[in-house]
Amino acid sequence: MELTREQIEQLEIVKYPQPVLRQTARKVERFDENLELLVLKMIDLMHRNKGVGLAANQVGVPLRVFVANPTGQPEDDRAYINIEFLEASGWAEAEEGCLSLPQIYGNVRRNQKIKIEAWDVKGNRFEVQATDLLARILQHETDHLDGKIIIDRMNMVGKMANRRQIKYLEDLYK
Ligand code: ZN
Repeated sequence: MELTREQIEQLEIVKYPQPVLRQTARKVERFDENLELLVLKMIDLMHRNKGVGLAANQVGVPLRVFVANPTGQPEDDRAYINIEFLEASGWAEAEEGCLSLPQIYGNVRRNQKIKIEAWDVKGNRFEVQATDLLARILQHETDHLDGKIIIDRMNMVGKMANRRQIKYLEDLYK
């Protein structure tokens, strides 16, 4: 990984409309010590901000890495690297928020059941079958890696309901 230890230590969550949230993340090629440091830093930021998932784009690093934890229990922390979707079925709609879009919430339609493959920090491949909340988190975080955020997936009502806060974040960034 091209980031230094010092750069990783200083990473913070970036907020909409920072352009890195719109980038398509690159595949991880090297599973090295700094990749592990990046994952640990992201897990720390996810917990400190009470999130259930955090993608590398959200800390300004456009690599195909995210961390997720549907329960908040430390033993459920998991890193997903170079995720690929193998199966997806059913539909479910539920409210989502995002650490990069503070105070923005809206209903998002996702597949209810999925099967994915991904790699852990050591470069070991694993598969996960997920439903409901975990399935939703994995799809939300994968969206980040493809430069997509929740407002892209909200219907007109959801976008309208959040328009003030969206404008507020855009003005803050200028
Ligand atoms: Zn998010």
